[in-house]
Amino acid sequence: TSRRRLSLDEYEQGVRARDRAVLARAITLVESRAASDVALAQELLTRLLPHVGGAVRVGITGVPGVGKSTLVDELGMRLLGRGKTIAVLAVDPSSSVSGGSILGDKTRMGRLSLERNAYIRPTPSGLSPGGIARRTRETMLLCEAAGFDVILVETVGVGQGEVAVSDMVDFFLVLMLPGSGDELQGIKKGILELADAIAVNKADGDNVARARMALGDLKAALRYVPRRRPTWKPEALSISGQTGDGLDALWGIVEEHRRILEASGELAALRADQQRAWMQSLILERLERTFLAHPEVKSRLPQLEADVRAGRTTPPLAVDALFAAYLQPMSAPARS
Ligand code: GDP
Repeated sequence: TSRRRLSLDEYEQGVRARDRAVLARAITLVESRAASDVALAQELLTRLLPHVGGAVRVGITGVPGVGKSTLVDELGMRLLGRGKTIAVLAVDPSSSVSGGSILGDKTRMGRLSLERNAYIRPTPSGLSPGGIARRTRETMLLCEAAGFDVILVETVGVGQGEVAVSDMVDFFLVLMLPGSGDELQGIKKGILELADAIAVNKADGDNVARARMALGDLKAALRYVPRRRPTWKPEALSISGQTGDGLDALWGIVEEHRRILEASGELAALRADQQRAWMQSLILERLERTFLAHPEVKSRLPQLEADVRAGRTTPPLAVDALFAAYLQPMSAPARS
C-alpha cells in the first residue's frame, strides 16, 4: 500500500467504509504523538463522532493464562456465525515495561484473525498507561464509526488496565480459574465491584467439579459486593472457552444487560459518563506530557531522581522542587 499521506476525507470515507487498510492507518494516526498527526486525529474523531455509540462494548479481563484469547476466538467465531462484525482491542499496561503485547502473537486468535468480518488490533508498545487508555478509547470509537457491531476489549488483570477499560465499555466481564475458596480470596475485591458478570473459565474435563464449587463460592461472595448499577445484578456462570460450553448463555447475559440498560435510560447516561471519562483521560495525558516535557522539569528530573534514590531528599520534597520549577514564571520559556 502507498504511504502517501491520506487526506481527512480519505480517512473519514475509508473508516466509514470499513476499509481495513485505512482503519489501520487511522488507528496509527491516533497513536501518533507528532503534533500534525495529533491535530488531524482529533479532527477525524470529531467528524466521526456522529457515527459512534452503536456497538456493544465488552471488556474482558483476567490474569494471563486464564483463557482470554481462547475465549475471544471462540466467542468471536460464534458471533460471526450470527452475522455480527467484531473488533478486538487489547490493553496491556505491562507492555510499556516489557515491550511485549498480549496480542502480539496473532496465532493466539488463530481462527478469528483470518476472518474478514473480524478486526484484531494489538496493544502498541511504548505508550504511557494514560496514553494506552486514551488510544484504546479512540481506537474503539474508530472501530464503531467503521460499523463493527461488537467491540471486545481485552486487558490483563494487573495494574490500572481494568479500571480504565471498565470506564470505557458497557459490559465488563471478569474471568477466573476454577479453584477453591482460598483462591477466590485472592481475587481483588475491587475487581468484583467492576464486574457485570464473572465467569469461571475452563469448566471442562477434570475441572468441572472444581468449577462448580468455585461458582458456588463466587455467588456467595457476590451477595456482599456493592452494586455498580441500580438495575443490574452481576451474574456468575461457568464457561469453557475451549469447548464453547456456556458461551451462548454468556452472550445472552450481555444482550439482556443491554436491553435493561436501554430500557432504563442508563445506556444514554453511561455514554455520557464515557465521554466525560474520555475528557478526563485527555486532561491527565496532556498534563503528564506537558509537565514531563517542560524544560526545567526535564533538566532537573534526573538529578532529583538520583537524590531520591540516594536518600539525599524525599520523594515529596523532590516533587515540590519539580513543581516549583514548573510553575516558576521566571524559568518558563519566554512569552511572545
Ligand atoms: P490468556 O493468557 O488469558 O489469553 O489465555 P490463553 O487463551 O492464551 O490460554 C492459556 C492456556 O489455557 C492455553 O494453554 C489454553 O490452551 C488453555 N485454555 C484456554 N481456555 C481453556 C479452556 O476453556 N479450557 C481448558 N481446559 N484450557 C483452556
